[in-house]
Parts: sequence; C-alpha cells; structure tokens
Amino acid sequence: VPETRAQNRPVALRGESQRVAELLAIPGAVNQGHFELLAGAHTDTFFRFSALARNPAVIDEIVGWLEEDLRSTEADCVLAPTTAGVGLGWTMATLLGVPLHLATVDERSRPVGVLGEPDLDGRRALLVNDVVTTGFGLQSMIDLARERGGEAVGATWFLTRSERDLTDALDLPAFAVAEWHLPAWSAEECELCRRGDEVAFALDLN
Ligand SMILES: [Zn+2]
Repeated sequence: VPETRAQNRPVALRGESQRVAELLAIPGAVNQGHFELLAGAHTDTFFRFSALARNPAVIDEIVGWLEEDLRSTEADCVLAPTTAGVGLGWTMATLLGVPLHLATVDERSRPVGVLGEPDLDGRRALLVNDVVTTGFGLQSMIDLARERGGEAVGATWFLTRSERDLTDALDLPAFAVAEWHLPAWSAEECELCRRGDEVAFALDLN
C-alpha cells in the first residue's frame, strides 16, 4: 500500500532548511493527481521545478548553495537536458565560466543526443537536472558524454524524490539540494490505474 505524502517530510541537504522548505512550498511546485514518471513508475505527487525556475533569483540562490561543490568537480562544461534544469544549467555554466550543452530528449524525456553535436573529446562534464527519481536520466547523460569522448565528473540537481543512494548508483560525486521521498509505485500495483483514473506523463519544461 503506497504511503501518503503527508507521512514524508522534505530534508534540506544544502542551504538553510527553512528557506528550502519555502522553496518546496512555492505555489504550483507540488501537484496532486495521477502521474507517470520518467522511469515508468506511477505517483500521486508530481514536483514541478518550473514553479521555482521561473524566478531567476531563486535559481541564483540554489546555485549559490551548490557553488563550492560545483567548483570541486573542476568541470569544463555543463550538460543539462533541454526539458529540465536549463535555467539551473545556464546559471551554473555562467558561474563556472564554462559552456552549456543541452541533451536532447525523446518523447518520454529520456536524454538521447546532444544539441549541435559538440565535440566533447577530453571534456569534463557536470550533469545538471531538476528532479531525480531513479537516476535513469542522469545515467543516460553519463553515457552520452562518454560516447562523445568526454567524461561525467559530477552530477547536481535540486530534488531527490526516491530513497535510492544515487551517488552509489551513478558512481560519481552527486550534489542535491533536498530530499523528499515522494511515494511512487509500479503501474501494476497502481491503485489510481485500478480506479480508472487517467494518467498524465510527468513532463516539466523549465
Ligand atoms: Zn497509475
């Protein structure tokens, strides 16, 4: 039986916890309904980072909390998906003084290519995303960087919504701002599907 969201509380990993809680509570960020996440899991709670990303001051604030960690990677380029974390990626690339490359995605938001086919030979890529559940999207970007001769040297994102240890799973330094274990379950055991509720793909553009 899936837990309800009320049983879980967000945890700030960086920044001041009261301020992180305020950001998580920005109107439009938390959406209740019936959603399918990137990796195919179903959930009743969809966190839209775009609700935060529309305010550039919030992006600056978030990137400020991560600055020391980002510099520690000695990345010489940033790679972010075209759908998610573009504002974050752009702000980080500007801060580090390195180019931003955008990963193109398929209709399910899976990163499948790099816009403009840049030469990443020998480059050290910092991977950026907005919300991470399984790390599947980040793993795709690790592969994309490698296929182009580069190397992913770190990954950063705003919110982890699963209990998975992503630093271990991705095998590279990983920096998140907050953790909020929002319940998700397989389509087969989805109560909302069983009830016949229409499912929406959790696509966020920011
Ligand atoms: Zn469902």
